[in-house]
Amino acid sequence: MTDTTTLIILGASGDLTERLLLPGLASLLKSDRGVDVKLIGTGRSERSPEEWDSVVKTAFNGDAGSDLAKRTLASSEYIQGDPTDPEHLKKLFQASEGEPVMYFALPPAISVKVIKALEEIDLPDGLRLALEKPFGSDEQGARDLNEELLKVVPEERIHRTDHFLGRSTVLDIIGLRFANRLFEPVWNSDNIAKVEIFYDEVLGLEGRAQYYDTAGALIDMIQSHLLQILAIIAMDAPASIDAVELRSEIARVLRATWVKDGDPLASSRRGQYSAGTIDGKDVPSYSDEDGVDPSRQTETLAEVEFEIKTRRWAGVPFVLRSGKGMSKIRKEVLITFKPVPVLPAGLKGASTPDTLRIEISPETLELGVTTNGKGNPFSLEKSVFKTDLGKPELTPYGEVLSGIFHDDPTLSIRGDVAERCWAIVQPVLDAWQSDRVPLETYPAGSSGPADWETSKEA
Ligand code: NAP
Repeated sequence: MTDTTTLIILGASGDLTERLLLPGLASLLKSDRGVDVKLIGTGRSERSPEEWDSVVKTAFNGDAGSDLAKRTLASSEYIQGDPTDPEHLKKLFQASEGEPVMYFALPPAISVKVIKALEEIDLPDGLRLALEKPFGSDEQGARDLNEELLKVVPEERIHRTDHFLGRSTVLDIIGLRFANRLFEPVWNSDNIAKVEIFYDEVLGLEGRAQYYDTAGALIDMIQSHLLQILAIIAMDAPASIDAVELRSEIARVLRATWVKDGDPLASSRRGQYSAGTIDGKDVPSYSDEDGVDPSRQTETLAEVEFEIKTRRWAGVPFVLRSGKGMSKIRKEVLITFKPVPVLPAGLKGASTPDTLRIEISPETLELGVTTNGKGNPFSLEKSVFKTDLGKPELTPYGEVLSGIFHDDPTLSIRGDVAERCWAIVQPVLDAWQSDRVPLETYPAGSSGPADWETSKEA
């Protein structure tokens, strides 16, 4: 038995590997949670040893100096082949040391074929599988994928990754809520008027049409990452932060989460960017981008209002929105509190609602409250307490990989939750696919279609 773990990356020639997975690995290797990792990349593309070395070194960038990183760089190899071929998978396992982790950095349809190929061969002890979103393409697809996976390895060795659960600000919500006296007593419908979760990007498609045009903003962001954030915001306190308790609370609150009034026509909106200007540069309309099939009518902006049918949250709107080609980056959770029931006579001006803003990127926390004015002390004004939460040591993918290497699925999506997240958004998907909700347009570089009201706290 060796202490080395082998990380086999399927789809190693792709965007995820180079841009997120390898830098995440490097951040983990230089941290005190690093483990000894032999790295094997594979794919159908040819890569000479020098080319692969250069990919890994570039991705490790400034994090290549630790002893663990040096060992990984020295032993890393690229083995060319088709990951859906059982004979090729056997070769990968033969080249592995220790208990391997197989990371599916592949288009989802290919991942299914690989799982079937794994069923045909003898597997190494302790094999762990890591799968990316989207996990299936609907509830039934996710259920089928779970069934296939369980034929290969047990649930505790399946890591359905969602790197948003590895983001420090998302994890900060847990400490903020449960380690303070201040927030939990008011964390309910008696005191909170609205919860909004935004993930707006200025960037457009950036050449990722092959994936994005079949997904769109609803599947790419809301069905996966933003529902996980909603769960962390809305769940009850877990008995402990571990794979059983934390994930049980996430599952419980998502079982109570529904599209508002079950009515996607009134509770969802979708848009697609038309030609516009971002940062002074002309951007073509989404439908003219390379690789886009305009007949798909893929949305680049999605907004859905959910409700959570629990005593704690009855009547509180949870609005989740994500867009590309927007005028500004807005990646945050905004919690707006209800106004005070009455003000003492003599206080001038309005008491604006208290707000708590948790910025996902950059990592900041901002509490907005009403105070007495600086000039006239009895004239109310808004004061903002803002703190920088600081950059974490590990990137989100470093955090995800740490969980996988340390056999801790706390931050990975449990199988039933993966299915539930599809069930939650299915009414919206159906309504959009049958065109019952119109696809609106907005110029790239704008704040969305003209009549979309966004929170005044923007
Ligand atoms: P990608 O670049 O489109 O594809 C990754 C690799 O998959 C390709 O380089 C290709 O390698 C291989 N591949 C493609 N078609 C194949 C086929 N028919 N048979 C076998 N291999 C095939 O994907 P990606 O952007 O890296 O994303 C990978 C996964 O991560 C996806 O599930 C995606 O949703 C998820 N994800 C991506 C990002 C991101 O920012 N990129 C973020 C979060 C999640 P070869 O041609 O060399 O075989």
